[in-house]
Amino acid sequence: MNVQIGKRYVCTKCATELIATRGGEGQLLCCGQPLELKQAGLKMDPPGEAQRKTGSVLGKRYRCAACGIEVLCTKAGYGELSSCDKPMSVQDPKPLPSSD
Ligand SMILES: [Zn+2]
Ligand SMILES: [Zn+2]
Repeated sequence: MNVQIGKRYVCTKCATELIATRGGEGQLLCCGQPLELKQAGLKMDPPGEAQRKTGSVLGKRYRCAACGIEVLCTKAGYGELSSCDKPMSVQDPKPLPSSD
């Protein structure tokens, strides 16, 4: 499954939600399993102990250096996002250009 720009993805284990801001050939994984396209009727795991851990952070952008996929987290979860067998890296917000 390729990742398509503008699509919403959800992790059924930790309820992380993402929107793809850049598509790619790689896979999106969270909690060690592929993310599902967001749709009605998805069966979600009940939240457990692990929910207290911090994983993906609302409003942060994550990127895979290998395949170029970029996602924006629209709902935080405890799982770790990965792609191409590596954790996805957090994109730092771009510093504002100085005005001089
Ligand atoms: Zn990737
Ligand atoms: Zn997850």
